[in-house]
Amino acid sequence: QKMDAMSSEVVDTNPYSRLMALKSMGVVSNYERVRDFSVAIVGIGGVGVGVCEMLTRCGIGKVLIYDYDTIELANMNKMFYRPEQAGWNKTMAARHYCSELCPDTIFEVHNMDITHDENRPKLKDTVAHGGVDRKSPVNLILGCVDNLAARQVMEAVSEELQVPFMDAVVADDAMSGHIQLIIPGRTGGLEAAPIKQQMDKRPGVCAASLPTTDSILAGLMAQNVLKYLLGFGEVAFLLSYNAVTNDFQSRMTYPDPRKQPPPAGGDHY
Ligand code: ATP
Repeated sequence: QKMDAMSSEVVDTNPYSRLMALKSMGVVSNYERVRDFSVAIVGIGGVGVGVCEMLTRCGIGKVLIYDYDTIELANMNKMFYRPEQAGWNKTMAARHYCSELCPDTIFEVHNMDITHDENRPKLKDTVAHGGVDRKSPVNLILGCVDNLAARQVMEAVSEELQVPFMDAVVADDAMSGHIQLIIPGRTGGLEAAPIKQQMDKRPGVCAASLPTTDSILAGLMAQNVLKYLLGFGEVAFLLSYNAVTNDFQSRMTYPDPRKQPPPAGGDHY
């Protein structure tokens, strides 16, 4: 704390004090633990930027970011990126922006398409050693992509490494979406969520996108990450949002008994 010369008020300069108040309010028993956790965010577009910024501002220990795309002027309908950044890698721009928000959050960026065969071992290896201690895996894989192929790769890595996978999906008309938490062996997988929203973008049809819907889904995801990691409140397993009707629906998902677990060891994409 220090004195503000202009107003002679005591100014709180500790970036964590408002977060730690959650503890004194009885919401979270040990908020400091947030610094021990690491997440891998795949896709740093409309939803991913919000998740990255919010978790950084919440003091998360480490964020790994994966994306292959560059910023275009057409992306200004999304939060966070600015016109003068056109042409920059999204991963670099995200790190540049977020690294100043929280002094202690570590960033690691990977500029790559996770569905390319040559990149999959690197994805798996970086997730497997992406913990704050650089030895253990990340605590969660966060899917913020816009296609099924990338989601399936994340689900496969999640199963192989037994790391939970939280996926955010926004429908092509930008009017609905959901977040889903997949815990290998304990919940349903991608097949348990509404199939309409899992579809690839229709060829020749440009998907709609709104910063509002993207940011609502980002907020739901970041909130659920904190609840899951810090163990407070009710964790959402499948939480759907309908922007037309203002409807939220939450339900559990269950493993598909017909689905065989992958054999132990080796690569099984
Ligand atoms: P738009 O489709 O509206 O032009 P966008 O491509 O940014 O915008 P979003 O849904 O906002 O789409 O963001 C999804 C993000 O996920 C993008 O930044 C995209 O590059 C990234 N992404 C999608 N597939 C992969 C993949 N296989 N590997 C890495 N990143 C991916």
